[in-house]
Amino acid sequence: MYKKCLILFISICMLFSLTSCMNNSSKDSSSGKIKVVVSFNAMKEFAYAIGKDKINIINMTPNGTEPHDFEPKTRDIEALVDADIFIYNGLGMESWTSKTLKSINNKNLIVVEASNGANIIKNTDAGEIKEHGAYDPHLWISLKGAELEAKNIKNSFVKADSKNKSFYEKNYNTFKNQLDELYSTYNEKFKTTENKNFVTGHAAFAYLCKDFGLKQESVEDVFAEGEPSTKRLSELTDFCKKNKVKTIFVEDMVSPKVSKTLAKEVGAKVEKIYTVESKEDGKNYIEAMKSNLEMIYNSLK
Ligand SMILES: [Zn+2]
Repeated sequence: MYKKCLILFISICMLFSLTSCMNNSSKDSSSGKIKVVVSFNAMKEFAYAIGKDKINIINMTPNGTEPHDFEPKTRDIEALVDADIFIYNGLGMESWTSKTLKSINNKNLIVVEASNGANIIKNTDAGEIKEHGAYDPHLWISLKGAELEAKNIKNSFVKADSKNKSFYEKNYNTFKNQLDELYSTYNEKFKTTENKNFVTGHAAFAYLCKDFGLKQESVEDVFAEGEPSTKRLSELTDFCKKNKVKTIFVEDMVSPKVSKTLAKEVGAKVEKIYTVESKEDGKNYIEAMKSNLEMIYNSLK
């Protein structure tokens, strides 16, 4: 009887240590994949480019939701409790992050601020600074910015799952090469255009402009909130006429009505541009950026 009890006791101990061991490993025990939670679509694009089938991604911001206005729901917070890695852009894009992270208990969570180490563009408008903080968050809409964010994300995957290091390194290098190739192609093209100005829905393209020496004017201010003032609209109309702007770019989630009005006013056509804040037209990051660059280039030619 004593022996039986001892065996039972040892078995329970073994079972217990086995389950606790499984809980401690940074892998989803059912699928063997790293559990990654991302704040919005661009972060998902980078995470997927590097992690592919070795990760499970939960995107907090549903498609079609403007991430600038997003606040996490209970289910997002639950996902974070259960996650191995949390990836967010930073630079004030997700103002809820520090409060949310403080409210959860997950001491093994690897937190990645993807913009860490970036050359930051500061907001200059006093109203913008008061409302949204000191920095322009749209780093991911730059090929150079994407390279940095992807690298930070890659490093976190290597940390969480070191035995697949070469897999993540290889995918990162492939992605980086695609970015570099796109950059060289359009860097050459933009050198040939005298006109450097284009007009967008919301001023999300400052980092992209920096990549290529371009200049954006926007129908809205840096963040996708509210309608532009009458004064701003008449300034834009003058700008478009003076700079012979032939194309006004519109975004899915940002007041296309105002952009269309402006386009009509100055006799420009309306084209779609992607901010990658949401998944649009089934395009991945490289495809969306290639389309953006080609559209901008055509509008400047
Ligand atoms: Zn934006």
